[in-house]
Amino acid sequence: SVPLVGIPGTNQERSFIAIKPDGTQRRLVGEIIARFEKKGFKLVGIKILVPTPEHAAKHYEDLNKKPFFNGLVKFFSSGAVVAMVFEGKDVVRTGRVLIGATDPSQSAPGTIRFDLCIETGRNIIHGSDSNESAAHEIALWFKEDEIANWVSTNPVYEKM
Ligand code: UDP
Ligand code: MG
Repeated sequence: SVPLVGIPGTNQERSFIAIKPDGTQRRLVGEIIARFEKKGFKLVGIKILVPTPEHAAKHYEDLNKKPFFNGLVKFFSSGAVVAMVFEGKDVVRTGRVLIGATDPSQSAPGTIRFDLCIETGRNIIHGSDSNESAAHEIALWFKEDEIANWVSTNPVYEKM
């Protein structure tokens, strides 16, 4: 079976994707999940929770020297976050393409951030930026038994 954090370089690579409180508040959960699903990525973990400020700070700990860090942690822990793990070939990099640039005004049309939001501080979604951070984030948010190792029979790959 696939380890919690996935297998980079295979179709079992995994990324941590989270819908932030603004996305949940704006009822964009279904829309955002649909974009990852329609691409062909496989949802293997999902839950909704209001993160504690401590958990939010841990999630964003690499940014703790940035001027926006306190506001980011406060906002991220202010409401419901939908935490997910998506699996698929190159899902970390391609997931970031689906999401678009950090600043929605610099993102490409067709991306989630261009199509659905306006400002950097309300950019509705998080996605792991490397396989290393994906592994770190999945372990931070999910336990082994919260991940469903289900077998896809959907022919999104040349070889299954
Ligand atoms: N952020 C912000 N102001 C900035 C840069 C980032 O409020 O000048 C927020 C923004 O919500 C972003 C998050 O901090 O999504 C994490 O920043 P990062 O650089 O990791 O961007 P991401 O990986 O989300 O594109
Ligand atoms: Mg980031």
